[in-house]
Amino acid sequence: MDKRVKDFMNEVKTRNGHEPEFLQAVQEVAETVIPYIYEHDIYFGKKILSRIAEPERLISFRVSWVDDSGEIQINRGYRVQMNSAIGPYKGGLRFHPTVNQSVLKFLAFEQVFKNSLTTLPMGGGKGGSDFDPKGKSDDEIMRFCHAFMSELFRHIGHDTDVPAGDIGVGAREVGYLFGMYKKLKNEFTGVLTGKGLSWGGSQIRPEATGYGAVYFAESMLKTIGKSIDEKTIVISGSGNVAQYAVEKCIQLGGKVVTMSDSSGYIYDKDGITQEKLNFIKELKNVKRGRISEYIKEYTTAEYFDGEKPWQVTCQLAFPCATQNELLIQDAESLVGNGCICVTEGANMPCDINAVEVFHKAKILFAPGKASNAGGVATSGLEMTQNALRYKWTREEVDNKLKEIMKDIHESCQQYGAEKDGYINYVKGANIAGFVKVADAMLAQGVI
Ligand code: GLU
Repeated sequence: MDKRVKDFMNEVKTRNGHEPEFLQAVQEVAETVIPYIYEHDIYFGKKILSRIAEPERLISFRVSWVDDSGEIQINRGYRVQMNSAIGPYKGGLRFHPTVNQSVLKFLAFEQVFKNSLTTLPMGGGKGGSDFDPKGKSDDEIMRFCHAFMSELFRHIGHDTDVPAGDIGVGAREVGYLFGMYKKLKNEFTGVLTGKGLSWGGSQIRPEATGYGAVYFAESMLKTIGKSIDEKTIVISGSGNVAQYAVEKCIQLGGKVVTMSDSSGYIYDKDGITQEKLNFIKELKNVKRGRISEYIKEYTTAEYFDGEKPWQVTCQLAFPCATQNELLIQDAESLVGNGCICVTEGANMPCDINAVEVFHKAKILFAPGKASNAGGVATSGLEMTQNALRYKWTREEVDNKLKEIMKDIHESCQQYGAEKDGYINYVKGANIAGFVKVADAMLAQGVI
């Protein structure tokens, strides 16, 4: 490791020693941004990256709620308000048993760069709880969401901090959270994004992260004269991001052969069609079942229990499940089997060693902070529509999303092009995201 990066990481470690996910995310940014800072006098010596790596505010709180059997349950809630240099804190809420301070700080840190890349004025934040929605009744979900918001409401607002969904928080949860916020604050504002269409939500918001990732992959493929059409595609996950990544790939002529959940993956050699995807949407979003049930309906497909889909031969891969789901041996097998493009739909699904394999093989690789930014970008468009008390059509929002993804791709090219013409999208995204936030922080003084 570069000595300058090592010194910087040592400083960050003294304050965050026990937070592996957070340190991983900071190191990945530091490796490209620290050399850039040394080359540019205006940023040198201002401790800008050290400041970005320290949350402006870290909120944690108790969430007490009553389950269906009348028992009192206790969870921990968080909101990490990471950086507000370029706009109000913006970022999702995650409800999952793996949630802790390290995971939310890594997500909030990534969000700062991601939101900066969207071209919209949004700072970065993230929140959530170690609450496990799996197996909970609808009433329990509602009581938990109401209890969670009964504390969070005092820390957020449409001009200060605007949460949204993430893993375990979808349209249903946003509804319950919004209901309690509205009651407590007695105001109807765009304090959350991902709202229902009839009460201030935006067209295309549910689709935006998955669609955006595929738009980004298209731009990358274009640089080498290729497209999505007729490619065999491996996708992990079966939640919101994966569902709409699959949908857009199908629309663009790709053949998606896998989807997964935390128990295993399905392989459908004939390709997942829109009709089969609709079955998965119903299974996951309404019945809240397991992906293994797919093979009961589509009997020619196979299910691999406890495995991930990275051994499957493909040209394109979209990891859309969760952090660190794709490690070095997975990356080696993807490259070995002829994969030419890996696009992160989730946040940090590929670990640092896996990314190194992609870079060494000089295949296209997009970090989530660039390729999955379509979700939060469309949240930004929802905020704009709420502020205007107006609604854009589906086509208008989709066109804006396409434009934003194209702009993000261009920023990555601008800052990530290497001498031999290879585009290092990690470097490009990190530096482009950094420059905008750093300039704002310099302009605002030491705060
Ligand atoms: N959770 C999403 C993300 O990781 C969306 C956040 C938002 O819309 O605020 O970017």
